[in-house]
Amino acid sequence: MDRRSFLALLGSGTLGATISHLTPLSAHGSSVRIIRELPKSDVKRVAWTVDDGTSIEAVKRYIRLVADNDLRLTFFVYSAMGSWIANRKELQPLVNSGQIQLANHTAHHPALAGLGTKQIQKELMGAHNFIERNFGVDMRPYYRPPYGSINAKVVNAAAEIGYTKPMLWSGSLVDASNISASRILFHARNSFYDRSIVLAHANNLTSTKVFKPMLKLISDRELNLVTLNDVYETDGVADGQ
Ligand SMILES: [Zn+2]
Repeated sequence: MDRRSFLALLGSGTLGATISHLTPLSAHGSSVRIIRELPKSDVKRVAWTVDDGTSIEAVKRYIRLVADNDLRLTFFVYSAMGSWIANRKELQPLVNSGQIQLANHTAHHPALAGLGTKQIQKELMGAHNFIERNFGVDMRPYYRPPYGSINAKVVNAAAEIGYTKPMLWSGSLVDASNISASRILFHARNSFYDRSIVLAHANNLTSTKVFKPMLKLISDRELNLVTLNDVYETDGVADGQ
């Protein structure tokens, strides 16, 4: 690994715990940057990213939120969950229109940094094939490692199979477990700002109860919701962000 790649990974702040596991990056993996915020642009942009989907009802409410308010968001799909098939009928048209993007959050949600290269690739390809088969879309190059568990081995293994954009986050609703609506709004106020990648979870109904004030916050701050493709397909891959 060259010094610049090493610093880029180190700068991501996620390698502290796993630094002893660093292995050399391949030529392909060495160009990969771990993404924690959106690139600069003339308009204020936010990527609202919703992970997991352990609650069928929460996924349904997010889908309806997008449909009813003409929003744009990204689901990071934990593909072993039943929510994707259970909600397919309502989800598919929004995937087709590009309002909802599906991105890879693995098949079984393991901490990838603890796995071997083949297992990492198997987890990503499990979700990849499931979504391709059921929704007809290719989720590459975007993935989010469960728990933010990433190191050079993960970056490299993923890059070998075309997953070259590891997406972490800049702000979080901290809603993976059930917390109060007022706490979620507190975290939302600290998370929705220009260039942020907001991490949310479709695992319980708490966030869904504060959709209205969150939409007001986004509108008051004049933020434009974007999917990952909105950002990187138009900005181009070469910007390195
Ligand atoms: Zn997750």
